[in-house]
Amino acid sequence: MTSTTTSAATPVVAHGLPGPALDATLLAELRAVLEETRDDRRHLLQSLTAEELRAADTDPAAAARITSARRALGEAADALARMDAGTFGLCVHCQGAIPQERLEFLPHASGCVPCSRRRS
Ligand SMILES: [Zn+2]
Repeated sequence: MTSTTTSAATPVVAHGLPGPALDATLLAELRAVLEETRDDRRHLLQSLTAEELRAADTDPAAAARITSARRALGEAADALARMDAGTFGLCVHCQGAIPQERLEFLPHASGCVPCSRRRS
């Protein structure tokens, strides 16, 4: 007779990566969304003319548009880097799993809801 011990502390990770077991189809969809966001914002920022950049010095609305495009580009690139590292879907603050519904709504989300609330 052999007794098998099960450890409840060890999470079952289906794909062998340190991240949570996210559905592969969902992951591919989120990657496509993030890549589109990244490429789109990158293109927008690259197509800014010198005048538009100068205008941002005096026009708060133009400055805000550029800032928001830069932020979106950074968030999408960071999320894609986490995908490559296998940590996508894990909160960067508490390492807890980010709920799938949150990722579907905000693919670039880097934190779970409680951590993001604490930091905003
Ligand atoms: Zn968290």
